[in-house]
Amino acid sequence: MMEYDVPTQADNAILTFDVVNVRAAFPILHQQVHGKPLAYLDSAATSQKPTCVIEAIDDYYRRYNSNVHRGVHKLAEEATHEYEQARVKIARFIGSPSHTQIVYTRGTTESINLVASAWGDANVGEGDEVLVTHMEHHSNIVPWQMLCKRTGATLVVAPIDKTGTLVMDAFERQLTERTKVVAVAHVSNALGTINPIERIIELAHGVGAVVVVDGAQAVPHMQVNVEALDADFYAFSGHKMCGPTGIGVLYGKADRLEAMGPYQGGGDMIKSVTFKHTEYNDVPYRFEAGTPNIVGGIGLGVAVDYLTGVGMDKIAAYEHELLEYGTAALQQIDGLRLIGTADRKAGVLSFVLDGIHPYDMAPILDRQGVAVRTGHHCAQPVMDFFGVPATARASLAFYNTRAEIDQLFVALKKAKEMLA
Ligand code: PMP
Repeated sequence: MMEYDVPTQADNAILTFDVVNVRAAFPILHQQVHGKPLAYLDSAATSQKPTCVIEAIDDYYRRYNSNVHRGVHKLAEEATHEYEQARVKIARFIGSPSHTQIVYTRGTTESINLVASAWGDANVGEGDEVLVTHMEHHSNIVPWQMLCKRTGATLVVAPIDKTGTLVMDAFERQLTERTKVVAVAHVSNALGTINPIERIIELAHGVGAVVVVDGAQAVPHMQVNVEALDADFYAFSGHKMCGPTGIGVLYGKADRLEAMGPYQGGGDMIKSVTFKHTEYNDVPYRFEAGTPNIVGGIGLGVAVDYLTGVGMDKIAAYEHELLEYGTAALQQIDGLRLIGTADRKAGVLSFVLDGIHPYDMAPILDRQGVAVRTGHHCAQPVMDFFGVPATARASLAFYNTRAEIDQLFVALKKAKEMLA
């Protein structure tokens, strides 16, 4: 272990966290890359998958692959049961009062597009405003821009400060009776900032706005309770929380979902169809046209069980400790500038190195077995704000270790020697 000046004391949650045991559940982590042990520090892009999720996918295709909801044979019944049970587990995991408030989607992106279309088109008009923040991922900007274009509403952007913290005074001032929707990240993927989401929702509700929370970077890293938050809509992706790709969730308040028309038309979202008239299905099926990602839903249910078993509070505490260790390590590197230094942060370390373009740095880190992401992280307005074309981003998960951060530290020193 390297000697950095790490500010916090380990608490019980960290001391009882058995990372060796956790890592044993992730086969992909135990490999060498370019002759070096893999240090996978790119979990904000996508998380790795534990054996139980991989085996559930395999089991579905080997044993009971079948379409859901319509069949009356044994395989179809088992597939439907597992797929719908997963919805119940997901509801419980995020504190949704009912599984009928869990809409399966392809991921956060589709969840937000669903709200912007099915809710937005019916409720937002000319003269209205959509309030987003400067730290949003493109998927929480572009669907709203498109809605504004369709309806004549205006996109308003709440500012951030140089630490990457939302400027709450300004946000509060921007909230008016014209604000129809507030679309905000719970946790920023580019900066790691944890937004004061309870307060944001409370303030937004004060002017009658509907709040759409992008929870893509929150649900994998902390205990989220959508009912306690009082979020109107909450979106997240399965693949960032140990589940498969191509599956995600839109949670919605029951009355909001009930009042919404469909998103796409097709099979499964209907009760009856004639050429004259179609009666739409109940919530949530109304929003789930066509054959869904069955194995994705089942796999996400298993991922949720797995995360619950490890314990979200333990995960949050352990990742926080790793973040502090990583921050202390990176601060020891001359010429390294952290982008995103908010007081409340999740496990994201975005940085630039003086005189070295992130794109030149990444291949050198890769040769050392270190997987980080370089680029704009689908948050170009954040890059513009900090005046950088791109950053390198190490993002942490509960299966990472201090040793992997040491490996990043050594690899960065090497990159500096080679490029500076
Ligand atoms: N929002 C945030 C904050 C994200 O980090 C991401 C994924 N990088 C998304 C939205 C989009 O998620 P997906 O690509 O899974 O739809």
